[in-house]
Amino acid sequence: MISRGTTQQSSAPYNRRIVLDVIRRHGMISRKEIVELVSLSPQTVANITNDLQSIGLVVARRVKGAKKSRGQPPIAFELNPKAGNSIGISLEPGRASAGLVNLVGEILERREVEVDTKDPRHALSAMGGLIRELKRRQPRGARLWGVGVALPGPLIQTEISFIGPTVLEGWKDLSVLDELREATGLQVFYSVDSAAAALGETLFGVARSLDNFFYMHFGLGLGGTLVMNRSAYRGANGNATEIGHIPAVPGGKPCYCGNSGCLECYLSLHSLAQALGLSAAPDRDERIVALLERDDDPALKAWCRQAADRLRDAVCVIENILDPVTIVIGGSAPKLLVERLVALAQPLHHSVRGGVAAPGSRILLSERQEDSSILGAAVLPIYDLLSPRFEVLQQDRRPEAEVAGLLGQRDTTGAGRL
Ligand SMILES: [Zn+2]
Repeated sequence: MISRGTTQQSSAPYNRRIVLDVIRRHGMISRKEIVELVSLSPQTVANITNDLQSIGLVVARRVKGAKKSRGQPPIAFELNPKAGNSIGISLEPGRASAGLVNLVGEILERREVEVDTKDPRHALSAMGGLIRELKRRQPRGARLWGVGVALPGPLIQTEISFIGPTVLEGWKDLSVLDELREATGLQVFYSVDSAAAALGETLFGVARSLDNFFYMHFGLGLGGTLVMNRSAYRGANGNATEIGHIPAVPGGKPCYCGNSGCLECYLSLHSLAQALGLSAAPDRDERIVALLERDDDPALKAWCRQAADRLRDAVCVIENILDPVTIVIGGSAPKLLVERLVALAQPLHHSVRGGVAAPGSRILLSERQEDSSILGAAVLPIYDLLSPRFEVLQQDRRPEAEVAGLLGQRDTTGAGRL
């Protein structure tokens, strides 16, 4: 579904985002095609594309290989990859991964450090170090849109314990992020990791053309986000779709949340590390990939069979409750591992999607598997620019007037507010 433009003068910034959104989704698109998609007049679209070009967000190119009927080949617009970068930081218990990401979702530089995340002061200093290092890698004169931080949820204190292997222990509040703002002088945005990664998939990943899907975040823990009309469903307190703590096995393994048999106890990197007797070391990915490739470890095989059973059940539950177009699986888990589990989970259970969804479309794997958290975090400072209507969980939004300013417009009336 493409958002439609509006002819009200005050909604000019909104129209700019709609045009940017169409350009991003198509990768490359002519002015005539934009007009057909957004219901704005050819003159308005021409004005907007000219303005977006002049502020450097969009570049125009003659389409090579296009049929030359008469005159010059058509001009197509695309996002300008050199229009600026943002820094995405993914915090997981024990490590921080960061990337410098451009406006088309390419990760230009990547860093990872071990962090004692139980000590927010230590995490603050590690994040500051990563930001300074990536900032130095910025091309000369390039714009930095800001910093996005993705953290494991839930972010609002609930009955679920905040002491456990897959949460950031010791983070009673997020004031550390305010200090990060002060220390770096940059704007810092944050979100639950699953919502950020779902957003990353929507802007730059496999969900680029999808308005509605369920995103499953398979990292050290297990999270999820329901994307409806390209907004993340929040629930009553912003803690919706914490699927890791859905009871999955009656009388099963005790979970730190206070219950037992939670999905995450069977389907997460933490549960895999436990099954293999590994500490949750940063090099776990390589070790797991090596074991998967050798395919001779009985403990790994047994874990995979059990995890695949839980995945099959989870897919059925999610589909029957939410009827999503597809379930996208991303997160820091190695792609080879997720592929193995999805293969073992076949055939999927019968559900409301079975027989309706095209064969093979009920589950989609992120193409950026290991990077999906970094990418999602990096999207947070730019999503307001690139899309007319996203809502993410728990995130500070840029003031509307500021977005209008970044898009080359002054929104003095505030009437363009979404
Ligand atoms: Zn639990």
